[in-house]
Amino acid sequence: SSSSSSIDKGGAFPHVLRIYFIPFPSPGHIIPMVDIAKLFAERGADATVVLTPLNVTRFSGTVTRAAAAGNRIYLYVLPFPSTAGLPDGCESTDALPSRSLSGPFARALDLLRDSFDSVIRDHRPDAIVSDVFLPWTSAAAAELGVPRYAFTGTGCFALSVERSLQVNRPQGWASSDSDPRLVPGLPDRVYLTRSRLAEATLPGSTAHEILDRLREADRSTAAWVVNTFPELEPGYLEHYERVTGKRVFAVGPVSLCNRAAADASERGRGAAAAGEAARILTWLDSKQAGSVIYVCFGSLSRFPAAQMKEIGMGLEESRVPFLWVFGETAATAEETAELDEWMEGMEGRVGERGMVVRGWAPQLAALGHEAVGGFMTHCGWGAVAEAAAAGVPALTWPLFADQFYNEALVVGVVGTGVAVGAAEGFVWGEEEKAGVVVGKARIAARVAWLMGRAASGGSGREEAEGIRRRAREMGEMARRAVAPGGSSYLAVGRMMEDIGPRNGQSAAAGSRDGDLGN
Ligand code: UDP
Repeated sequence: SSSSSSIDKGGAFPHVLRIYFIPFPSPGHIIPMVDIAKLFAERGADATVVLTPLNVTRFSGTVTRAAAAGNRIYLYVLPFPSTAGLPDGCESTDALPSRSLSGPFARALDLLRDSFDSVIRDHRPDAIVSDVFLPWTSAAAAELGVPRYAFTGTGCFALSVERSLQVNRPQGWASSDSDPRLVPGLPDRVYLTRSRLAEATLPGSTAHEILDRLREADRSTAAWVVNTFPELEPGYLEHYERVTGKRVFAVGPVSLCNRAAADASERGRGAAAAGEAARILTWLDSKQAGSVIYVCFGSLSRFPAAQMKEIGMGLEESRVPFLWVFGETAATAEETAELDEWMEGMEGRVGERGMVVRGWAPQLAALGHEAVGGFMTHCGWGAVAEAAAAGVPALTWPLFADQFYNEALVVGVVGTGVAVGAAEGFVWGEEEKAGVVVGKARIAARVAWLMGRAASGGSGREEAEGIRRRAREMGEMARRAVAPGGSSYLAVGRMMEDIGPRNGQSAAAGSRDGDLGN
């Protein structure tokens, strides 16, 4: 059945908390979960990250380096279950060639339960930190008498919006796509249009069954682990605790634990990406401080060919230096050939001013580079938290799921970004149906405006400067949150105290470890 730990654990100390971390296999979930495991290991816990083989290849560098630095951090490799209809090599959502495979993929994840159960039974950890998207870990944990803490993937603001929409199912949303409506019961007056709601929340969605299953699993969850800090979502940590009746351990931005250059530049791609990372960072070195817009839409977005061209033309027209990263597109084979040719022409015209990266960029290293002064982002929560950590303002362009909610937070609540102006999303896996959502003129104008390069002077300039200043201040608050004595640092200690007594240990036994919550 399951293979053994790839790193020898040596003797176990009875008073050391042992925590098993099991991520949902999507880059946006694995990457922060690995960081969280490292955070606990650095505070004296014994942390084990459970991954399937292909994800070990991509995501274990952080673990290996943290172990080499003397932390008690380990990998546990579970075989990926084979399932009818799922081709080999699909161990992560971004590896799925088509959306039609998400059913078999979900079934494969359910099949992980047996081997995970035996790992927990054999190793008896003090707690499991599971992604909320693996609902079966809740039943497994309860049966085996181990508390389950749920890593939420997204932030408390988006979680609060989702809860409100689920509970209130506001009347009248169906009547118009474009009328702004109040999301009831939030600390702020937040308005959204139907076109911005997550597909899963819409009436008639087939995802209701899945959402119900997640809610059910949430019931027996001990508490929430969230990649956030209070200043990033003012009032929403407390609000989410109130509406769920469970504690929020806000331990973010977790990306800040990647202090070594290799951790920042290989994150999410492994050492194989080191050469490409070096090329990108060298290009950034040649640019003036704060002059570059970094453009990346996460690991799952696939724009249609026509929208790709609009983005390229917009960046070209903006006259701003840009680093544009993209993976897959939703282009057909003929469109791809034409797009490639067009892209080459565009790269030739912009020359040294722009860099196009096909595949994966060292996002953390790029955002932390002083040349980067803005981030065109899809508002995946990982990206939002990383932008906050780096003090970089956002040009928001949400596509689906929780991304419009995160935009509402960044633009409307904390004011560290401006919207590119996407009023509707793409349906994941059906992007080609949407065509062009934002045109080149708007892209060019908003990029130039945020980066302080707009031709027109006046109040617009001050407004953009205000956004950049608030983003810088957010970065300072983020660094204070994770430093010793900061809120996120304390939250890690408090969660360790919370785990101790739940497992029949006295809190004092835990605090003998010396570094709890001080
Ligand atoms: N990422 C990266 N390089 C890329 C694309 C993404 O390092 O070229 C990382 C990014 O830093 C983030 C994660 O992948 O940690 C993506 O998570 P996010 O929540 O931003 O978006 P998702 O991919 O889940 O939509």
